[in-house]
Amino acid sequence: EPQNLTSLRVFVKDKLSGQMVDLFEACQQQTSDLDRKEACRARLQVDIQKQFPESRLYLTGSSMSGLGCRSSDADLCLVVTGNRRPHPMDVLCQLQRDFRSLSYLVRIQLIKAKVPILKFKERGSFLEFDLNVNNTVGIRNTFLLRTYAYADVRVRPLILVVKKWARHHQINDASKGTLSSYTLVLMVLHYLQTLEQPVLPSFQKTHPECFDPLMDIDEVPDGPRHVRPYTSTNQSSLGELLLGFLRYYATRFSWDKQVISVRQATILPKTNSKEWRNKFICVEAEPFEGSNVARAVHEKIKFDAIKKCFSESYQMLNERKDLASILALRAII
Ligand code: ATP
Ligand code: MG
Repeated sequence: EPQNLTSLRVFVKDKLSGQMVDLFEACQQQTSDLDRKEACRARLQVDIQKQFPESRLYLTGSSMSGLGCRSSDADLCLVVTGNRRPHPMDVLCQLQRDFRSLSYLVRIQLIKAKVPILKFKERGSFLEFDLNVNNTVGIRNTFLLRTYAYADVRVRPLILVVKKWARHHQINDASKGTLSSYTLVLMVLHYLQTLEQPVLPSFQKTHPECFDPLMDIDEVPDGPRHVRPYTSTNQSSLGELLLGFLRYYATRFSWDKQVISVRQATILPKTNSKEWRNKFICVEAEPFEGSNVARAVHEKIKFDAIKKCFSESYQMLNERKDLASILALRAII
């Protein structure tokens, strides 16, 4: 990590880039935050295994991908194996009952979505958990994202700032019809992959063996260990990349004709298939399924608000070159 920070300095020559690094350093997940999440995961696993002996609990999402903030929730995936594999919803209902007798958990809530989850908090802290059952694609894509996160020193600060920007403008909440963090991350990766001088490749193309969708789930966390950082010829500063990201979605990307594919590091034409038809924003769910991660954006009014954010923030940042012009710096940290 210290090595990373040294080389990041090369890309921080202007005020805007400096502001981005400051925000990143103030907000990025600390080792102590991760230790806390891991301790809670281990304790929960012991309690869950009393009911489901053939199960294992994995920490996923931004906590593990390197794209987390201090305030990020802890995403958990319970992998239940064995011959009689129960339905995820049945497992969650059972856990909901069991968790009520665990004194270290509070505010336990079952969310019946396409991927149902149990939400809860650790007593006496701000730590929030989202637990799903057997949605193992989340484990696989977490470690793919982790590979992108560490492939170039600019990726993590850029994504953190974009997440904070989106949160500030209230366009980062899939449950309210806007963009999930996962969608935002894929949008940034796509931008970095499709620059004239790309900052990132498609790791599924360059290292298919590390991201084989059939790989045993226990081996997934170690899969990317052999992927070396990508050497890019692109020398853009952090600030230039942020401005470029906003410019791309404000002026270049064609929302009604194009589908984002991080898997292929390219744009795909929007076909008339069920997945893309009548959708405002199309982002291929990486990396192992073809569904649309941006399907939460289904209201025209929310879609327009998102586009407006991109174009207004682009104009503002282009004019002022000051991060404070597009998000409230002090309120955030
Ligand atoms: P945050 O820091 O805001 O919590 P996050 O990266 O954890 O960001 P979430 O939206 O909480 O993002 O999603 C958690 C994880 O769940 C993602 O990292 C991804 O692995 C997985 N995930 C979320 N949405 C999808 C989806 N539509 N398809 C596949 N995997 C998804
Ligand atoms: Mg999360």
